[in-house]
Amino acid sequence: MKEPSQPRGSGGMRQQAGGNALQGPGARRPQGKGAPGDKGGLGGKGPGLSGPVRPILRRLLRYMRPHTAILTGVVLAALATSAIELSPPWIIRLSVDRFILERQTARIWWAAGGLLLLSLVQGGIDFLRLYVTAYTGQRIVFGIRNEVFEHLSRLSFSFYDRARTGDLMSRVTADIDVLSNFFGRAAVIMLTNILILLGMLGVLIAWDWRLGLLFLALLPLIALGMWAYARQVQPAWRRVRRQLAALTDALQESLAGILVVKLFGRERFEVKRTSQRSERLLQANLQSARISSLWMPYPNVLMGVATGLVLWVAGRGVIGGVLSLGALIGFTTYVQMLLRPIRQTGMMLNVVVQSLAAAERVFEVLDTQPEVQDAPGAYPLPSIEGRVRFEGVSFAYGGGPGDAEALRDVDLEAAPGEMIALVGPSGAGKTTLVHLLPRFYDAQKGQITIDGHDITQVTVQSLREAIGIALQTVFLFDASIGENIAYGNPRATQREIEWAAGVVQMHGFIQSLPMGYGTPVGERGVRLSGGQKQRIALARVLLTDPRILIMDEPTSSVDAETERLMQQALQDVRVGRTTFVIAHRLWTVQQADQILFLRDGQVVERACSTAERSAHEALLAAGGDYQHMVTLQFQAETLTAREPAWLEGGTQ
Ligand code: ADP
Repeated sequence: MKEPSQPRGSGGMRQQAGGNALQGPGARRPQGKGAPGDKGGLGGKGPGLSGPVRPILRRLLRYMRPHTAILTGVVLAALATSAIELSPPWIIRLSVDRFILERQTARIWWAAGGLLLLSLVQGGIDFLRLYVTAYTGQRIVFGIRNEVFEHLSRLSFSFYDRARTGDLMSRVTADIDVLSNFFGRAAVIMLTNILILLGMLGVLIAWDWRLGLLFLALLPLIALGMWAYARQVQPAWRRVRRQLAALTDALQESLAGILVVKLFGRERFEVKRTSQRSERLLQANLQSARISSLWMPYPNVLMGVATGLVLWVAGRGVIGGVLSLGALIGFTTYVQMLLRPIRQTGMMLNVVVQSLAAAERVFEVLDTQPEVQDAPGAYPLPSIEGRVRFEGVSFAYGGGPGDAEALRDVDLEAAPGEMIALVGPSGAGKTTLVHLLPRFYDAQKGQITIDGHDITQVTVQSLREAIGIALQTVFLFDASIGENIAYGNPRATQREIEWAAGVVQMHGFIQSLPMGYGTPVGERGVRLSGGQKQRIALARVLLTDPRILIMDEPTSSVDAETERLMQQALQDVRVGRTTFVIAHRLWTVQQADQILFLRDGQVVERACSTAERSAHEALLAAGGDYQHMVTLQFQAETLTAREPAWLEGGTQ
């Protein structure tokens, strides 16, 4: 594809009423089971994770597999620090029973020094462990982000027709960011804490099996609390992610359409719309904060009860002489130490639940299959002459049985080097017709061939390399003019770039700029006029030297004088290329080898140029729709003296 045209609806106003926050209006859920096709857009679901949690978790963990070695190291380090963490109560017990009660002052110094040393070692290992985990997490997330972005670039137009830019942006940025917490902290911290809890259990059972059992009885209570918490907070986090995406979407739309907003003085409306979304996000965040706050004191209460129980059971044991005082102190220290891993696990559980909600949204993008993709056994389109044939081609945008056909039974044959002008009222299907050729969409019926090669049987990339397309909606990147021209052919030399700019009558202008071809275009090309942007887009296409050229002729952006110069140049450029032009100008139709007049998706009139008379003359003589349009629709233009040739041509 040489000139990316903007998919419809990517920046336009969309109604939200009654729509799902994740779906564009009218988005259809993919039919049947299996991966959704990209024409379905992204699905939206009710509160709570829609599918079972385990497959998502398993899939997330799969991303950690390539880093198994490093993560094993991290877990071993976690084991080491867990062991160190378990040692202070043991040292305290030893100190109380053996050193303090027996007044061994020098040994207490050793014990205190040992504790200090251990905490230093623990600090060092922890630093390394946390950094390596965060590093690995960031690498994984980097990989996922690239994977999603690459996948997005493979999805077809039909996906973008329905997807909402802001929503997609939030999936690629905010949602994936959440995952960095999962990979970078949560997974390893949870594992470490589980190890610590099990370690404590082992030590306590070894010390005194009754106290060990008491501790064991606490574990189900801890697990139960966490399970209840996760269940409640899960839908809340999902709502937060959805509202965040909706807010991003509203913001993106307002900013992209700022010109229209200001033009109609709708700033207040936009501010209100955005703040409504913001309010919904606030409410969603508050709800999850409420749930979290409700559950946060739970471990404290549990620990209070446990400490009381320990004091009661162990205190009686000490009085009865079955338990040492040191064991009692060591035990209560362990119970206090429990608080941190439980708390941390609770917090990490939060992260895991958030990550599951985010991952579901990310995987939804990754699972969307491009509707247009290489057929099995697709081969690259060999070098072509440019004979294009449409045979009985029908196409409906929705693709479903009830969807209106944008094209119906279209037949056409273009010989190599011919120029085919497509004319007809707006909405007739002209753009749709030219979009089918590079397979922006696939026809539901009929066949399109280039030099006899069925376009669905060749690789999409080779097909698009053979076709250059310059549409009216021009997108320029935030780069220099030279880079924008060379976008489709980054290997183009400066001379070639200047040649293309010369053809579209831009070379002189670009050279007159202080930075010449290095002049930045600015975001969305704001520093250039509409006509200049269109000409740059055309130069971009010319530079790729396509065999087949598709153009939506500029209607108003280029002034008459420039257009005349461009027409002359294009006359030279189209030699040897099959050219399809959505024609708006008399000059073009006069030059055309064929004219197809479309109405309601059908070719209702057509003519080919012969030695005797041009297609234009033939159609005028036929006195049908074409002639009618010529006299009515273009009369006004003729009267402005912009193209005095029109009427003369029309009455020839
Ligand atoms: P033209 O280029 O002749 O103005 P189009 O090919 O753009 O006409 O449109 C033909 C028909 O298809 C119109 O009814 C239009 O509303 C519809 N259409 C065009 N693009 C889309 C799209 N992306 N999704 C759904 N319908 C579309």
